[in-house]
This record gives sequence, structure tokens and C-alpha cells, in this order.
Amino acid sequence: MENYFDALIVGSGTSGTYLSFKLAKSNFKVLVIDKDKEEDICNRFDIIHFQYDDFLKHGLALPKEGDPDMVEIFHDVYTRSALDKNEKRNSINVYAAHFHMLFERLKGEAIKAGARFSFNTSYKEIIYNTQGNPIGIKAIKDSKPIEYYAGLIVDATGMSSSLRRDIKSQYMENFSITPLDRFYVTLSYVKWKDGTKTLTSTSYPYFKSWIAPCSFESGGIIGTGAVSSIAHAKEKQKHFLERIKVKDFELIKEEGGSTPYSRSPYSFISDNFLIIGDTALLTNPMSGEGMSYTLEFIDMALPTLKKALKENDFSALNLWPININYNRDKASIDSLIRSGIISVLAMSEEENDYLFEKNIIFKSDSDTEPNMIKELISGLFKGKISFKSFKLVLRQFSNGKKIFNHYKKFPSDISKYHKWVNKSNKIWKKIGHISYYDK
Ligand SMILES: Cc1cc2nc3c(=O)[nH]c(=O)nc-3n(C[C@H](O)[C@H](O)[C@H](O)COP(=O)(O)OP(=O)(O)OC[C@H]3O[C@@H](n4cnc5c(N)ncnc54)[C@H](O)[C@@H]3O)c2cc1C
Repeated sequence: MENYFDALIVGSGTSGTYLSFKLAKSNFKVLVIDKDKEEDICNRFDIIHFQYDDFLKHGLALPKEGDPDMVEIFHDVYTRSALDKNEKRNSINVYAAHFHMLFERLKGEAIKAGARFSFNTSYKEIIYNTQGNPIGIKAIKDSKPIEYYAGLIVDATGMSSSLRRDIKSQYMENFSITPLDRFYVTLSYVKWKDGTKTLTSTSYPYFKSWIAPCSFESGGIIGTGAVSSIAHAKEKQKHFLERIKVKDFELIKEEGGSTPYSRSPYSFISDNFLIIGDTALLTNPMSGEGMSYTLEFIDMALPTLKKALKENDFSALNLWPININYNRDKASIDSLIRSGIISVLAMSEEENDYLFEKNIIFKSDSDTEPNMIKELISGLFKGKISFKSFKLVLRQFSNGKKIFNHYKKFPSDISKYHKWVNKSNKIWKKIGHISYYDK
């Protein structure tokens, strides 16, 4: 059938396009559709940063000097404390790219591997078979209705999560990503008046702000994130610039948007269905960055997807290892971090500086692992941290350990899933939501 595919991916952002590359390379017949025109894909902001090593790690050709997406590669990243007294340095290769051109790079690889793309094509509704399993979608292509059928349907529609919110399945959570579950990011592209160019990235996690390279001569980007709205992120940026002395600059342009900032759904699959990228809230719990997270998720899921294609069986039971592997190996650690961040956000600037100095919240590559309990008790006696904060840190780390251990026990047996979910909900309730503490 002309409109039948092994995998139909809705959304051609970086997640959908990278998945199409990997699946096409694994002999899937793949179609990616997107509601937007090609020139509008990944065009909501100019520059994206992610790990340069991702190219080799995920089987992508390495960019060369002069490639249209390349802006800068830098090698050290710095993290500074709230009072700007303590600095941590980590060696990591970061690629700064023009976002739309990066999409074009990924699309080029996907097409070479055999994937097909259809732009101006909007998902409308899911088509189910008589057993209630999804087998296709209705869409509108160039203003005309069209139907597509597939063994596996993938929601890669980003924050709108259009299919995930529609799908009827006991394994899929239909929540929408509310303003309180989002990290709103404001980006100020600036020219430094001293004529220097920003060549590396420095972040100030207490202010959820950072300074990073952009493509302008003698320029840089000042970024700030906050839950609930762009207006809130802008207020935060103003506060950051009042508290931290940055060089004099001229503002050239501003951009903004939002990225998921809450836990992922417990299940990434249901019968004939998979979620990836922002739809699956696959972002770094510290920074809200999504690229590296999704690439890793897709590579972890790939062996299960290949097996499912070979067996022509995309049932939830056959896709279940995707949930087991990701929840046990990655979501467990991220959940522990999410719990910890809440206590760190609730602290004062002075307390943040102390935690920095003692390597409790950030470490340089050369720093040794701190004895957290000893340093906290010592900080309490020296008056560096309050009893309230001390208790909150201990509570959040204890709850973090509980959620970590619970994710590590994600059930191999699909029939035990709902019991596992009930217990997860109880632990997350104790942990609280990051937005309560995002001052
Ligand atoms: C300001 C800002 C700066 C950021 N900076 C970084 C960074 O430096 N590094 C990093 O790693 N991450 C960064 N992120 C996060 C990153 O952009 C996202 O995590 C990532 O782009 C998500 O990709 P995606 O493919 O899942 O979703 P998207 O890029 O949102 O793609 C979803 C696609 O689905 C399409 N779609 C939606 N609905 C439909 C429909 N009904 N029918 C058909 N198509 C549909 C959309 O048109 C879109 O093209 C930033 C986010 C923001 C907002």
C-alpha cells in the first residue's frame, strides 16, 4: 500500500528527524510528516548548543569548518556560584550550531539513509483498528485530507504532544505540558562593548542564567530560564544582571521559547506507539536542554525497535524493554537530580556559595567527591547554612534516593506496571514540584 510505512513519525524537529535517520538505516520504511513548511522547521531560535561528541557517539558525520550549521566548537564550560566567588571548570566539547541548519544536516543524513519527508502535513486524528489499537492517522496535506498507515506511530510533535494527548491506552499518560511544567527561556543576543567575542560558556545555576557564544563578531548570548512564562524569565534575567557584574553590552535581538521541565511520562510506549523528544519530556533536569537526551533515548530504544520490525510486532509487550531500559538506567538518575534541585533552589545566595565551595552541588573535573553529610553538618555549625535548608536538603536527598531506587525497580513484567505507577505517584508527591521553589 502506497501510504503504508513501517514507521510514521509525526514532527520533523531534531527528535523526529534523528529517529527517521536511525530507523531508515535499520531498513524501516519511514515517513516523517510536519505541519510546517520546511524553511520554518527548527527556526524558533537561532543557536542551539549540545555535545560535539554526540556526532560520533550517534553515528553522524562530523561537521567541518565552513558547514552552514557550524558556529563554534568550544572545549571548557564554567559554572559559577551565586555570589560569583566560586568557579567550577569542566572539559566538554560543545557544538554551537544554527538550529535550522542543524535540522537540514540531520534531514540530509535521513534522506541518504532512505527516509521520506512530507512538510505542510498536519496530524488530525488517530485511526484505530477494531481491537482499539492505533494503525494510522488522518492528516491534512496541502489543505487536503489524507490517511497514513503504519506498524509504529511516533509522536515527535514537541511540546504540543498532539498524539500522546489523544491516544487511548492504559500505558500512555495524556497530560499536557502546562506552564508550570515548562522552563521558559529568554535569549538576549548582545555585542560586548569591549570588542571581545564570547568563546566559551559560563553558567550561573542559582540564577538559571548563562553566557554562551553566538555568531556575531564580539557577541554572545545571555540566556535565562524560569518556570511559568517568558515575562518571568525576563524578570529573572534583569535580577541576574543586577546581581552579577557582566561586561557592558548592546542588545541586538531577543528570542524566547519553552522546554519541558518536569518528569517524563512513566511509559514511552503503548501498542504500536512511541513518544520521543519534548513530547516525552526528555530534557536535562538542570538546563532543560533536549538534544543529547533524545539522541541517547533513541539509541537505547533502537535494538528493541529493530527486533519489533523483524517480528512485525509493535505491541506494548514487545516494546516494553524501551521502558525498562530507560527508566532503570537514565530516568532513575534524573529523578534523583530533580529531587535534589528543589532543595538547592530554595536556598539563599550565601548557602549556594557554601555548597559550591564544598563541591556539594557542582564539581570541577579535578575535584574529589565530597562527604556531603559531613560538609552539611559542618556548614550548619559554622552558620553557613540554616537549619531549615539543612532539613530540606536531607529530605530531598532521602526522597531522591527513594525515587532512584524505585525507578531502578521498573517492572520487567508489564502486568505490574500500574502498581509501580501508584507507588511512583506517592513518592513524587512527597518530592514536590520544581515550580514551588522556582523563586
Ligand atoms: C529558547 C530555547 C533554547 C534552547 N536551547 C537548547 C540548547 O542550546 N541545547 C539543547 O539541547 N536544547 C535546547 N533547547 C531545547 C530543544 O530546543 C528541544 O528540547 C528540542 O528542540 C526538542 O526537539 P523535538 O524534535 O522533540 O521538538 P520540536 O523541535 O518542537 O519539533 C516538533 C515538530 O513537530 C511539528 N508538529 C507539531 N504539531 C504537529 C502536528 N499536529 N502535525 C504535524 N507536525 C506537528 C512542529 O511543527 C515541529 O517541527 C532550547 C529550547 C528553547 C525554547
